[in-house]
Amino acid sequence: MKHYTFGVDYYPEHWPRERWATDAKMMREMGIEVVRMGEFSWAMFEPGEGRFDFSVLDEAIGLLAAQGIDVILGTPTAAPPAWIIEKNPEIQPTDWRGQQRFFGGRHHDCQSNPVYREHIRRYVTAFAAHFADNPAVVGWQVDNELGNSHGDLCYCESCEKRFRVWLKEKYGTIGELNRAWGTAFWSQDYPDFEHIRSPKITAAWGQNPSHDLDWRRFSSDLVCEFHQLQADILRAAAPGKFITHNLMGFSSKPSYYALGEQLDFASHDQYPGGHFHARHDEYRADWHAAELDFIRAVKQKPFWIMEQQSGITGWEVLGRTPRPGQLGLWAMQCVAHGADTIVFFRWRSCPMGTEQYWHGLLPHSGQPGRYFREVEAFMKQYAPLLREMQGALPQAEVAILRSYEQEYAFQIQPHHPQHRYTQHLMTYYKALHRANVPVDFVGEHHDWSGYKVLIAPLQFLMTPSLSEKLHAFVENGGQLVLTWRTGVKDESNLCHTDMPVPCLVDDLCGLQLAEYDCLRDTDGAVLWEGERLACSQWCDVVEVTTARPVAVYGHEFYAGTPAITCNEFGAGKCWYVGTTLSDALADRMVAALLASADIAPLMDTPHGVEAVRRVKGGKTWLFLLNHNACPETVALPAGFTPWDGAPWAGQLEAHGTRVFVSVSE
Ligand SMILES: [Zn+2]
Repeated sequence: MKHYTFGVDYYPEHWPRERWATDAKMMREMGIEVVRMGEFSWAMFEPGEGRFDFSVLDEAIGLLAAQGIDVILGTPTAAPPAWIIEKNPEIQPTDWRGQQRFFGGRHHDCQSNPVYREHIRRYVTAFAAHFADNPAVVGWQVDNELGNSHGDLCYCESCEKRFRVWLKEKYGTIGELNRAWGTAFWSQDYPDFEHIRSPKITAAWGQNPSHDLDWRRFSSDLVCEFHQLQADILRAAAPGKFITHNLMGFSSKPSYYALGEQLDFASHDQYPGGHFHARHDEYRADWHAAELDFIRAVKQKPFWIMEQQSGITGWEVLGRTPRPGQLGLWAMQCVAHGADTIVFFRWRSCPMGTEQYWHGLLPHSGQPGRYFREVEAFMKQYAPLLREMQGALPQAEVAILRSYEQEYAFQIQPHHPQHRYTQHLMTYYKALHRANVPVDFVGEHHDWSGYKVLIAPLQFLMTPSLSEKLHAFVENGGQLVLTWRTGVKDESNLCHTDMPVPCLVDDLCGLQLAEYDCLRDTDGAVLWEGERLACSQWCDVVEVTTARPVAVYGHEFYAGTPAITCNEFGAGKCWYVGTTLSDALADRMVAALLASADIAPLMDTPHGVEAVRRVKGGKTWLFLLNHNACPETVALPAGFTPWDGAPWAGQLEAHGTRVFVSVSE
């Protein structure tokens, strides 16, 4: 597959034809090699049923191709046109209150609806056939950000019907479903699959957690199946073009591991200064880094950014404007964590619609300003770097297990009001990030054997196969971290019975749970070699069998009992953390782990300066990223020289980046 360095998202249909040639020429001059378009313009390309008019795309693609720019086309199924909705209003989605949602935004569609799927089949078949032989069209994106804006959708009758088919395939008999869902509680026995509904709002709010977990699994499968429908048509009608999807970091509705199986490579949308962030005065570089590391895990290889922030963003309200240097810094962070191609969103700020203030490289005026000049300089400087580094990976020795199943289970039962699955994983990730230790994310299905350390928090749903895999990792010399709420439930979200918690891994942990405390409206403390450090949310009170206490609680009637333990098992060690760690405690925990597994951080940096590496062959690229609004002094490790050959005086500018290389013999 041809490699591209930089691209842009482009909507020629928003602008007069006379401007398109100017846009294409300006793109080529600034270093754009690929353009994505077409993903939201169904009404223009099919103004009435079966009446296709792709002339806008044909002409725009021709102008771009004349400048040597290739094209990715998106299928526009995230925005079915008004004429489809008028004809088939039943395809509009229903939320969990049973309220139908209507036309006017996007994703006003039910992904299981058979009538909607017929409309999609007709459009995508014609779309693929029309562009199949166009050599400038090199790839496809199906829909847009699948799962996003579909968070609590859809609970309609069509989805319920599909859910019943899914359940029949899974359970075979209604008796088996009743057992797996524990329907003896509150009189929920189902005499027949036909009686099962989507888990809409109940009179008592609470849902059966087993029913809800299967619904979330089903919803993930439905999104993947929705993607598959289109991917199959595209592959059959237009072979030789790649398929990717713009994923959304830690967004959880569909499993990206499952969706990724259909993709040639993963893509991601990255908006570090997005208006949708809850706070704009917080340090978030670690979150952005983590999402990039996670997207790399989807295919366990480098990825694309399909939408990279290129200006101030907003819908009804706006975020902050990117500070000088930040657009390049944010793009470089993606490159550092494994992006081989960066596509900026978008070419030009749009005069109309919901995203009028979601600014592009160009302002509404079309005249280049600061955003454009900064990104152009960045692209010109670093296109050669992206070319030489293509395919390089970070060579992490530490992995964090991220599981959609466990996340769904904690979405249903967070236990503590402030407890969130991803935030919990982030307590460990952030400590590793502060220490400049490369991290990979992995799923249950991946091969873990290449890692020295596997951090696997919250293994709530414990199955014999997961237990076996965890045992094998430690037996073979790995260091495993397990935490509170591990080995509590079976795969149906029923509590394990008749064995000690953490069920199926108590021998691996070398302890058994005696009881637990949910730290409502209070924090706790852990004593680690006499140092008192804060913890929160939850405390497991354990009785060790073979484990060694590492740190003990410093509060409540269980003060002095183990909070963190370590158990030698086979050739490895299993650590158990009975509480949620504060940042200081997580730093202490990570330091102990790194020392025990003999892992060296890349280097020391001031807070807010990130050090990241990519490695290929014998060559290592070291990225220094200053997320702070002031210059920072950094001591470079031995053996590295500036990638660009420019002098290095040991200082990074505010929001500045530098790249260094080292070649091993
Ligand atoms: Zn539906």
